[in-house]
Amino acid sequence: MTIGIIGAMREEVDSIRSDLMQNVRETVIGGRTYYEGSIHDTPVVLVFSHWGKVASATSTTTLINSFDAKEVIFTGVAGATSSELNIGDIVISSKCYQHDMDASPLFNKHEIPLIGETFFSAHEELILESKQSCSAMVLNFSNFFDNDQLMNDFAISSPKVYLGVIASGDQFINSDEKVSALLQDVPETLAVEMEGASVAHVCHEHNIPFVIIRTISDKADGKAAIDFPRFISTVANVYSKNIIDGIFTQRKSIPRKDKSTCESFYSVK
Ligand code: SAH
Repeated sequence: MTIGIIGAMREEVDSIRSDLMQNVRETVIGGRTYYEGSIHDTPVVLVFSHWGKVASATSTTTLINSFDAKEVIFTGVAGATSSELNIGDIVISSKCYQHDMDASPLFNKHEIPLIGETFFSAHEELILESKQSCSAMVLNFSNFFDNDQLMNDFAISSPKVYLGVIASGDQFINSDEKVSALLQDVPETLAVEMEGASVAHVCHEHNIPFVIIRTISDKADGKAAIDFPRFISTVANVYSKNIIDGIFTQRKSIPRKDKSTCESFYSVK
């Protein structure tokens, strides 16, 4: 069973490909390079989706139709919309929605026309695997980053793992007003980004399990763009690589069950 892995940052995808994947073969389709190979003996296909809902939806469709991906795992960065979250925390999707979808009054705001869905739920088993991997990563955080100055610069001290709602749209959110508008519509939104809910939408229509894993890179405020490239290249790629490593290490040692319930393992925090 081939697992699709999508990264929204070239640096993250490069780290996963060069440090984790074996026997890599490249195929270019529709402006994206797909890397087939394996991670800890599980067949995978990896792609850098580019940014935004269309780019990530087409990448997801190709993973499913051309590479027969049976599950999709997405890693990337996001802005925090909840004031509880800090840079360096991780959000695993319980569900995702498209904050810029609005066909009202024909349909409810955020509802995807004609399929009757607003929130797409991530797969419970994938959530559980992600949680275990992310929790191990943040627990051993200091082993992965030996540069204290770097952690001071980004004010990362004891990162936490959250399970919650992720909003996606074709906008970089960088003002308190925009965050307030999002929260007014869906108060439980923890993070905002540009790809998760479109990946989820495609997976839903193909009946493919998915999970979205996001490292908080900014607080979606006026400072959101500052130091963004440095965060990606020094922090986010290390997170993504270790999270993916942890997920596939578990798959090698613990047989997967088809169904399980893990909602009870979590509160929002
Ligand atoms: N200003 C940044 C733009 C990055 S946005 C730069 O100059 O590099 C691109 C990626 O960051 C997307 O994958 C998106 O999902 C994610 N992202 C991180 N923070 C975000 C935010 N506050 N709003 C929307 N997307 C965000």
